[in-house]
Amino acid sequence: MIYDKHFLLWWGLSLFLCKLGSRRQLDYQLNSDGPEVLANLNRLAGTQQTTRPVNQTLEYFVGRIGSAPLAGLDQRMVNRLIRMKALDEARLQGRFLVLIDGTGYLVFHHRHCEHCLTQQHGETTVYLHQVLEAKLLGPCGTVFSIATEFIDNRDAAATPAGASPERLKQDCELKALPRLVAKVRAAFPQLRICLGGDSQFACGAGFQVAKDHNCDFLYVFKPGRTPALWRDFQGLLQLCPDQRVEWTTPQQARQVYRWVNDLDYEDSERRRWQLGALHCRETSKAGEVTEWSWLTPLRLDHDTVVDVALRGGRQRWRQENEGFNTQKNSGLNLEHAYSHSCWAAYYFLLQIAHLLLQLVEKGSLLRRLAQQQGKATAVALFGSLKNMAQRLLESLRYRRWEDEAFDAAAAKMQIRLDSS
Ligand SMILES: [Zn+2]
Repeated sequence: MIYDKHFLLWWGLSLFLCKLGSRRQLDYQLNSDGPEVLANLNRLAGTQQTTRPVNQTLEYFVGRIGSAPLAGLDQRMVNRLIRMKALDEARLQGRFLVLIDGTGYLVFHHRHCEHCLTQQHGETTVYLHQVLEAKLLGPCGTVFSIATEFIDNRDAAATPAGASPERLKQDCELKALPRLVAKVRAAFPQLRICLGGDSQFACGAGFQVAKDHNCDFLYVFKPGRTPALWRDFQGLLQLCPDQRVEWTTPQQARQVYRWVNDLDYEDSERRRWQLGALHCRETSKAGEVTEWSWLTPLRLDHDTVVDVALRGGRQRWRQENEGFNTQKNSGLNLEHAYSHSCWAAYYFLLQIAHLLLQLVEKGSLLRRLAQQQGKATAVALFGSLKNMAQRLLESLRYRRWEDEAFDAAAAKMQIRLDSS
């Protein structure tokens, strides 16, 4: 039996779109007691398959094509959204915020390949794989993966054995950063980009990567990372008391912003940098105080500082966590080993499915439906993201999707991602 690659791609995506949780569930959930599965997937793929594959067929397929075409497909889909201007509302000072963050995603109690990172926890050794991700921030809290670097023991080579897991993570991510940003630049050569990252990137190496690839950046600024620069920042703040904006958020939190431009910094490689730094002190309605600081080459003034902090810096935490947390905990099962030989291919299938799911979950189509039922969001209407996947699975199995659903023009089925 020969299966068309388009059909197998939708077969693989269904694993994540319907949040089946493991590859073998394909054989139980998309089997012949779901009478409409074959017809619906044929419509999506534009194929005429007469039988359905089994889960090993998918494994064989991704083993043959490898992960690169899937990573490329993911990037092409985001590029399309950018060209359609569907993501423009999220731009910060004309730039797209590209959030950089790493996470562990596969953990084994035995060595699973020659490149596993190893960590010692008391008597036991765990073998793990990490990734460093570049995620483009879109409107409505959407985050779309645009490049991935897999981190393995080659990145850890220079870290002394027995170093703390935090140190290992930092060393590895800093080493993978240039490769990651080079991939982003290759796929999006013209895009105006501001990299968003935590304090580990706020050093000469992180500034240089941005410069090499013609990006701006907004990195979390912490006193311990670059102590001398932090002292200069505190000193200069005293000298410019006018560089201050105060306002109250809709949640009644009082925020005070202060900033300086043109901080001079010489890094450990004797490269010189001119940086802006901003500080936000927030006092909540209950009197709780939180403080943040960032480093950036973006020009800071009375008109831009709040925008840079709120739409840039603060977004990072919320969306970043949302990206990985959703992929780990909403049924997408990022940390599950979907395959022991071609796990990277499944990683990208998951990213593509998450892109599609976000358009549905956060787009205007279901939001309008929810509002007609007196609910604010689609998630509120269905109860949870997991429930939404369950409904999609039911629909895929039992309901022959109408012609109208495949004719965007006739159905006026435009999904918008604005916050209106
Ligand atoms: Zn391994």
